[in-house]
Amino acid sequence: SNNLQPVRGTHDILPDDFERFNAILNNARDIATLYGFQEMATPIFEQTDVFARSMGESSDVVSKEMFSFETRGGENVTLRPEFTAGIVRSFISNGMQQHLPLKLFSTGQVFRYERPQKGRQRQFHQVNFEWMGDDSWQADAEIIELAGRFLQSISAIKNNCVLHVNSLGDAHSRGIYRDKLVSYLNGYISGLSEDSKKRLVQNPLRILDSKDVGDRKILETAPVITDYLNKESKERFERICNYLQTILVVAEVKIDPKLVRGLDYYNGIVFEFVSSGGELGSQNTVLAGGRYDGLIEQMGGRYTPAIGFAAGVERLLLLAGESIRPKTGKITILPFEEVASEEVLDFAGRLRSALYEIAQKSRQKFDTAMEIDWNGKLSKRLEKAAKNATSHVVILSPEEAKEKKCIVKNMKTRIEQKILLSDFDDMEKLKAIFDIV
Ligand code: ATP
Ligand code: MG
Repeated sequence: SNNLQPVRGTHDILPDDFERFNAILNNARDIATLYGFQEMATPIFEQTDVFARSMGESSDVVSKEMFSFETRGGENVTLRPEFTAGIVRSFISNGMQQHLPLKLFSTGQVFRYERPQKGRQRQFHQVNFEWMGDDSWQADAEIIELAGRFLQSISAIKNNCVLHVNSLGDAHSRGIYRDKLVSYLNGYISGLSEDSKKRLVQNPLRILDSKDVGDRKILETAPVITDYLNKESKERFERICNYLQTILVVAEVKIDPKLVRGLDYYNGIVFEFVSSGGELGSQNTVLAGGRYDGLIEQMGGRYTPAIGFAAGVERLLLLAGESIRPKTGKITILPFEEVASEEVLDFAGRLRSALYEIAQKSRQKFDTAMEIDWNGKLSKRLEKAAKNATSHVVILSPEEAKEKKCIVKNMKTRIEQKILLSDFDDMEKLKAIFDIV
């Protein structure tokens, strides 16, 4: 046929949009670097099993949204509908266990067979962050803070963004809650959608994520997980929420006891940044994630706690507006007809060499990572920092805190300095402290 339209649910990114698209990716990369994440890539397709096993057979994605096909060699493969499963597969098959903790950033195309609409395509892009090997509440807080900083950096979020958070608790709390929910829903079983009837047996918590109007009505008075969290889960969740409430500038924090996320593998904290500005219609979740401590073991690796999130780049583009377009200079040479073309080309060539050199010299490439190492004896942590090529350590001790100071140690020269905490607010002093040129 002669159909030159792109396939339903796919779209071209034309040069004008691509600039803004790239600006989003660049900001994501900068923020990843800043928090000590390393970029990696996995194949765009995997054995179908990788997704089916990790995301859960009963999830919307696996049961109806995957682009699956058989290769000529008879393998069943699927275009990735998300990053986490492939990254966990890679983590296991490359024996990355020995390098924990790991912070991994990825970006690229993602495929889901959905009904296309504004903010919902069949081929779209995600930026994806995974933090493996750290089960602390601080990691939860830090990665959500990272997410907020990223959204802020692309000014995607004006004053109308809400961070929805919930805790699914530990296995024990969740088990008790699951029973309560099932017995409640059994009382309304005839009113449930067909999908939810199936989920009632397979994975009842996912019914909370249903978009069916009838289901939603029944769920209004359903028991909520928050009432069944044990003391430890509850305290941990409160601590994270309190911290986020004080530091998040981009979003209002809202505890949403019905938030469960559509995939099977979550536990502990789950979160979604939702835009309420109306730019995205009903496709208003821009960034979503949660903790998935059991997944790596479930897929055949050693037990490894982990937390991660993904954001849809197309949705971010709709929110980000014009402001993220990078500024670029443009020089135009206007030769008279009499001047030989060779001379013009030669002149332009020399000018380009000079401009290129200036760019190379003045390029303020962003390459400073900053991480927190919370645990262990100070001497051990210093050893660890030396091993992982840390250039400076900042030691925060109660002693120095009394004088509103801290210690900065240059790991190369071994010189330690007491620094006033307020000096970190001064850009020039900051550069001097960390030898940034
Ligand atoms: P939704 O409830 O909108 O279907 P989801 O829970 O399926 O979202 P996730 O699997 O959490 O989405 O994916 C993370 C992010 O990827 C979403 O918050 C969204 O920004 C983006 N995203 C998901 N599906 C699509 C799609 N079909 N087209 C464009 N972006 C998408
Ligand atoms: Mg979806």
